[in-house]
Amino acid sequence: MTADRKRLIILGATGSIGMNAIDVVRSHPDAFEIVALAALRSKEKCEALATEFGCRAYVGEDAAVRAVEENDADICLVATVGMSGLRPTLAAIAKGMDIALATKEVMVMAGELVTKRAAEKGVRFLPVDSEHSAIFQCLATGCWVSAAGETHRGTMLTPPRTVVRLAHGVSKLILTASGGPFLDGPADLSKVTVAEALDHPRWKMGPKVTIDSSTMMNKGFEVIEAKWLFDVGYDQIDVVVHPESIVHSLVTFVDGATLAQLSPPDMRVAIQYALTWPDRLPSKRETLDLAKLATLTFRAPDPVRFPCLRLVKDALARGGCATAVLAAADEWAVDAFLKGRIAYTDIARLVEESLEKAPRFACDSLAAVDEAVRWTQSFLRT
Ligand code: MG
Repeated sequence: MTADRKRLIILGATGSIGMNAIDVVRSHPDAFEIVALAALRSKEKCEALATEFGCRAYVGEDAAVRAVEENDADICLVATVGMSGLRPTLAAIAKGMDIALATKEVMVMAGELVTKRAAEKGVRFLPVDSEHSAIFQCLATGCWVSAAGETHRGTMLTPPRTVVRLAHGVSKLILTASGGPFLDGPADLSKVTVAEALDHPRWKMGPKVTIDSSTMMNKGFEVIEAKWLFDVGYDQIDVVVHPESIVHSLVTFVDGATLAQLSPPDMRVAIQYALTWPDRLPSKRETLDLAKLATLTFRAPDPVRFPCLRLVKDALARGGCATAVLAAADEWAVDAFLKGRIAYTDIARLVEESLEKAPRFACDSLAAVDEAVRWTQSFLRT
């Protein structure tokens, strides 16, 4: 089956998603061939991986874009940190590669632009985030029929996008959230330290996404990502807190049925599905023991403790590049918090101020997204 191996480019190869993806590839050497790896900094680690897989290593600021431009692949896994994922994603779309998307900021900054370019090129998005993978899996349980009468496996993400959308009968997408380290305390979040905010109870991830998880901005970004990936209105997306992180998300259909995807909190489940879709390959990983788990709990998120969820809905209601302002303000504020320059609660405050003061930008080009980001960074610097 070597001839059918899927060719992969992995951007952000040395980060937590990248290393988990590499672990998936190691356990299925007949299914995948890595053609290029890119990392921002970890030069030695990236080069050692390139030697192991006989592929090219790219390291530095422009590494991700060069890895895409200088190689051909079936799937480009975008797992870089934050806003840096946008340019390489657009480059991979331009070359017609399917996008396994882990970097949610790509959709937060430029969902309209990115989905439009992808539709023009017939490029598919394969969700890597556990929540979006769960929804993808719930939607992929049956066949759907396009307007042209073609039957497809998969979801409405699969080109052609002329699918009769309501063939799925989706009523609501329900994203689950672990709630992070501050779900129940402390009462006063303004004194929270960097170490406390980085201590996530369930997932081991990089610092940016870990802080975003603690403020629930990460969940807000996932709402935006879900809106673009699954082409639903944001009022059709709910968030429910589920501290055990076993149910990764759910879909409620118009007939009242709800489907969920469950698995132990191991991000390799979602990464592997993105890379093997529409097939499933076996794994030796632990599976669920429901009797041992005994109880799964759910509750509504607290809007006072987690104002970022409201800010996300505000940004979506504003439309245009407001979500690019949101992404840029959050990236700036999280960096300032990590460097000890602002208090934890200033993150949401600065994002809110940026959204309120930002001019309205239409969001139809990369230049417009860049302008929204530049405006936000200069607003926050002064
Ligand atoms: Mg997630």
